[in-house]
Amino acid sequence: MTAILEPRAVTSPVASLASVTSPVASLASVTSPVASLAPVTPRLVDSFELGLDAPICLTWELTYACNLACVHCLSSSGRRDPRELSTAQCKAVIDELQRMQVFYVNIGGGEPTVRSDFWELVDYATAHQVGVKFSTNGVKITSEVARRLAGSDYVDVQISLDGATAEVNDAVRGAGSFDMACRALQNLADASFADAKISVVCTRHNIGQLDAFQALADRYGATLRLTRLRPSGRGADVWDQLHPTMAQQRELYDWLVAQGEGVLTGDSFFHLAAFGDALPGLNLCGAGRVVCLIDPIGDVYACPFAIHDAFLAGNLLSPGGFAQVWRRSELFTELRSPQTGGACSRCQHFDSCRGGCMAAKFFTGLPLDGPDPECVQGYGELALAGVDADANPKPTGDHSHSAPVRGQSTTLGMPTLPAKICDENPLTGVSP
Ligand code: SF4
Ligand code: SF4
Repeated sequence: MTAILEPRAVTSPVASLASVTSPVASLASVTSPVASLAPVTPRLVDSFELGLDAPICLTWELTYACNLACVHCLSSSGRRDPRELSTAQCKAVIDELQRMQVFYVNIGGGEPTVRSDFWELVDYATAHQVGVKFSTNGVKITSEVARRLAGSDYVDVQISLDGATAEVNDAVRGAGSFDMACRALQNLADASFADAKISVVCTRHNIGQLDAFQALADRYGATLRLTRLRPSGRGADVWDQLHPTMAQQRELYDWLVAQGEGVLTGDSFFHLAAFGDALPGLNLCGAGRVVCLIDPIGDVYACPFAIHDAFLAGNLLSPGGFAQVWRRSELFTELRSPQTGGACSRCQHFDSCRGGCMAAKFFTGLPLDGPDPECVQGYGELALAGVDADANPKPTGDHSHSAPVRGQSTTLGMPTLPAKICDENPLTGVSP
């Protein structure tokens, strides 16, 4: 089957599930052996748990270089890694993605546009039927670039903003970063670029700005995309201060329910489903099954938020390339095997919440088969109370700037709120 790109078919990985072409083509291989007698269509989510021939949501961090120094950067970006893949190596990766019929990639970093060959690689990808969605702080999105982007149906742009005001945004992303992002959004709007995304990491300081974020998106003709703060990269250092309180998680859930499909969330908030109905999006951890990360030197991790040796599946420069890592690595095979759910399987919300985010558990020192640290039933907070935070796993690699960066960000201090105690504890009798 030829992967056919739909114009601007590079929106939300989850919103686009219905239009997924190549990976879902492999669903046939995960149906029952009796399918030929009585056709049985597996639930999509069950198929995802077994893994697909190619990732649906492939994130490729092209560089660790970045002009900013956001306090919660999941990849601890700042300085370029001298082993970064060359232009020719990147093109070979794109060739392989085309062969695997990966129909789009999320490109990030670092700030990917600071690579001198960035636009060349974008053009090469789209010319090879691999659509591009890239995340940027906006630094290179000039009027001219915006006009050029508006001319392509296969490139989507996501501008990062972590506050609906300069005060809230710049506290985590650095002085001047709000104005820079808004300038990029304005340039895109002026160029009639259709449906840019505003990507927000939800924090304790911006949950109160949800309506203001939506207003900002409306102003620029953009779509809002909310993501969860994970304790990954430099985010591990500020997670305690910045992750939303329990009351804010409820506020966020109610707000997302009210917005329906109008706000993108990917797989960020499926742990909030334990408040009630599931939210639109991918309601399971897709790490190594439908999601993975290629880092700037070609290392392949189970998920963009799990940059640690424990989740390193291999390197695409090895024989067999990316396909070999994706299809055969020991780690991904293990992640695709049936999971027990551990302590969480005794929770009445397990079917919807599934124990939450693997990366969030790992970097906060919680067992992977236990509750999410932000479990909305309060069990994560209980479990965290028994964790020696100093012994938590540290993310692999720190590429942070070694000298202060212009517009250096600062964190706002907030007191830690007490844990919510719940009536039913799936951790009973289990040591974290
Ligand atoms: S580890 Fe967390 S962020 Fe990564 S795929 Fe799983 S749920 Fe998503
Ligand atoms: S106990 Fe586990 S399954 Fe239940 S709500 Fe908390 S994280 Fe989700």
